[in-house]
Amino acid sequence: MRLPKAFRQITVPHMNPLTEPEIRAAFINRTKGEAGRLHVPRDLADRPWADLDYLGWRDPQAPDRAYLVAELDGRAIGVALRSSASAPGQARRSMCSMCLTTHTGGVSLLVAPRAGKAGRQGNSVGAYLCSDLACSLYVRGLKDAGPGARLPESLTLEEKIERTVTHLAGFVAKVSG
Ligand SMILES: [Zn+2]
Repeated sequence: MRLPKAFRQITVPHMNPLTEPEIRAAFINRTKGEAGRLHVPRDLADRPWADLDYLGWRDPQAPDRAYLVAELDGRAIGVALRSSASAPGQARRSMCSMCLTTHTGGVSLLVAPRAGKAGRQGNSVGAYLCSDLACSLYVRGLKDAGPGARLPESLTLEEKIERTVTHLAGFVAKVSG
């Protein structure tokens, strides 16, 4: 059923809630065994799904390990990432390539092994992302990264979200090869 246009305009893209088994089954750059062991947040029921373009988290036991799960074309796709070590005390202003939020010291180079054979051969894809993986909340103004973090733009919120999802889909496509 096609929705009336006026209704579609206020329907901002967002995720449907995912369960732990769905999240584990979504990873494209981990083996089934690895995906079964990696840290999945326990508070999935409390996550703000309606305001998320992707679910992102870090492993509290191993903070250099980060994960994101996106819903693209109705399918959940998970990507395991690793932070590259940054120089201690480094707090440069830099911009997240996903949501275009500028942080002082809050952007990490996150590297994902590519899916399949390419990843096993050591090929990876890197992106500068919000270190806390909260891009969706910065875009929606639900989390504040401080003065000057978000450039004034004439785009609507929906357009900003669509741009973020386009960047997200492009990154996931590079990882999946
Ligand atoms: Zn971001």
